[in-house]
Formats: sequence, C-alpha cells, structure tokens
Amino acid sequence: MHIGVPKEIKDHEYRVGLTPDSVRELIKRDHSVVVETGAGLGIGCEDSEYEQVGAAIADAASVFESADMVVKVKEPQPDERKRLRSGQLLFTYLHLAPDAEQTADLVASGASCVAYETITDDHGGLPLLAPMSEVAGRLAAQAAAHSLEKIRGGRGVLMGGVPGVSPARVVVIGGGVVGENAITMALGLGADVVVLDRSVPVLRRLAARFGPSLRTVYATAASTETEVLAADVVIGAVLVAGAETPKLVSADMVSRMQPGSVLVDVAIDQGGCFETSKPTTHADPTYVVDGVVHYCVANMPGAVPRTSAFALNHATLGHVIALADKGLKQAMADDEHLRHGLNVHAGQVTCAPVAERHGYTY
Ligand code: NAD
Repeated sequence: MHIGVPKEIKDHEYRVGLTPDSVRELIKRDHSVVVETGAGLGIGCEDSEYEQVGAAIADAASVFESADMVVKVKEPQPDERKRLRSGQLLFTYLHLAPDAEQTADLVASGASCVAYETITDDHGGLPLLAPMSEVAGRLAAQAAAHSLEKIRGGRGVLMGGVPGVSPARVVVIGGGVVGENAITMALGLGADVVVLDRSVPVLRRLAARFGPSLRTVYATAASTETEVLAADVVIGAVLVAGAETPKLVSADMVSRMQPGSVLVDVAIDQGGCFETSKPTTHADPTYVVDGVVHYCVANMPGAVPRTSAFALNHATLGHVIALADKGLKQAMADDEHLRHGLNVHAGQVTCAPVAERHGYTY
C-alpha cells in the first residue's frame, strides 16, 4: 500500500502521524511511504531521517493525491478534507460527535475514515486514547509542582519537601489512566499522595500497585471535601464515559482551600471537575480564583509533542500495519476492535453515536 503522512496544520499541533521508526517498519513490509516536507520537524525529526529509512518527501498536494492511506494525528482541517477522495483510507483522531461540519465533509468525500479514539480493546478500554492520558497524567504532577512555586501564585511548597519539612499533600480525584500516572509522578517527587475514586476495584488495584506509600479513599461528597480542604494540590482526573464530567469540587469549597494551593483539572476537556475551572492554553496556562491557582490546559500532551508522538505511534503502528497489509475490508473482518474505529465509509456514517448525533441513518 502507498501511505501518506501530511504535516499537521491545526494550530499549535506539532505531532506527526508516523515517526521515522514507524515508516521503517512499513517499508520493511514492502509498503511505500510519502511524507510531507517538514512533517516531523515539530518532534525534532528532519526530512533526511525519513529519507534514510526509505520514505519519499513531497508537498501536501502530492501526499494526499497519491496516498491509498493517509495517516495523521488531528482531525482533517477544511483544506485537508477537500483533498480526501473516494476509496481513500484516513486513519487519525476524528472526534466527530461534536463536529457536524467535519462529519458532512467526510461523508461527501467518499473516503473510509477510521478514528483512533473509538478503537477498543479486550478490556473495554480505548487503547489509542490511553497514551495521551498517560502523558497528561504525568504532566499533571509537573504542572502542579511548577504552580506551587511562589512566583506563580502558589504556596511556595516543594513537592517532596526536604528532611525535617513536610512534602506537599497531593489529592488525585479519579484513579484511572490519568490518575495512576499522576500518582506515579507525584510519589516519585516525594509528595504525600492520596487518591479518591468511587470504584472499589480501582482503589484495590492502586493499593496493590503502590502499597502503603499511597493512601486510598472512597470518593463521597464528605471525603472529597475533607481531602480537598487539607490539600496543597488537587488533580482532577475523573471520567464518566459519554457524559459531562461531574463538578466534584464546588466554588464554595475552592474559596475555603488554603491560599496558594493548586488545582490541576485534567478533565477540563470533558467540562472539568472543579466548578471554578475554565479551559486555558499552554501560552497562558494558569489563573487564580480566591487565591487558588488553576491549571486547566485542554490539550496537555501538546506541551511534549515528541514524547506524545512516539507514544501515539506505539499504539497506532500495529493497526497501520494491519490496514496496510490486509486492506480495509480484511483488516476489519479480522479485528472487531479495529472495526469499532470505522466512523465513515463510502458516504455512510458507520459509528452509531455519530450517526444518532448528526441525524444520519446507520
Ligand atoms: P479513566 O476512565 O481511565 O479514569 C477515570 C476514573 O474516574 C475512573 O477510575 C472512575 O472510576 C473515576 N471516577 C468517575 N467518576 C468519579 C467520581 N464521581 N469520583 C471519583 N472518581 C470518579 O479516564 P482517564 O483516561 O484517566 O481520563 C480522565 C480525564 O482526563 C478524562 O476527562 C479525559 O478526557 C481527560 N484527559 C485530558 C487530557 C488533557 O490534555 N487535558 C488528556 C488526556 C485525558
């Protein structure tokens, strides 16, 4: 198969669909790859690195025109959608549910569009979303450490303390992928960490993994209030699948927190779990409400595009290879989890929630 990798054109998107290592794997399997000029520069990969593993370098028009399969990161922007054609395969994050315009364009293109975010696994997870949650969780602890610094409005507390001086108290709400990675980093920095979750199996798994260094608490309104009011840092990492994030910390609770304490709302991309949260950007990541520093960046992995692109490639490469080796029809027939990724095919919406949301027959 001939595979095309365009340079991402969405504002501040630096990741790339295929790294040179992934391209090498495809070329080893007798596929051909064309990469747009400068596509890897945002993660520090020069065109020459792609050429060394056998890729051709071309402009955007040739990449889209020639490719049987286009591999990207972000949903195609309007100019990219115009370039898609019938029979072509698109493999990328799509997030069609809130995006009627993109859905209509993809249907009109006649292309087959497989979305990273709806591919499933045997454990009921979303394996192509998980790497970005890992990155966001780990970054959450770093963001908290920076935000605690006095100059950024924080309490002036060092996450790990020093001998004789207590470390920061870090409360993680939600012990899923983001939460577990935030806990790993916060414990690694020497913080005093507690996790709240409303799932006992989740608490059991975390207790088994981290042992007595992590305190686990069943999440109720009462336990949440007790922990939040005593915290230096609260990391919001809850997810209720298919629903807006519940507001677990009220504005009143925030006003009673210690001045200079820090809220990191990772769940902001789903509406946020603190009543006082509003989305921020990497350029201006924090603001202060009632003396409490809020960090609410909606695309946290964008801060570390190199790590994020490699992590994403590790999750996508197996599927890219399956699609390239077998073609769409056979790859879908062999793997129901990959089939769940198919959102649009030959002018039809093939993902039930997207069809329902935008009024297509399914
Ligand atoms: P996950 O499903 O792995 O974990 C969510 C956890 O929240 C589960 O353990 C669940 O039991 C727990 N939970 C649900 N309701 C709760 C409640 N009322 N009280 C306490 N715990 C509760 O999800 P995840 O992959 O860890 O993602 C967490 C959030 O982070 C999501 O909103 C996701 O969209 C977001 N996220 C944001 C970014 C970003 O850049 N800001 C990046 C990745 C993920």
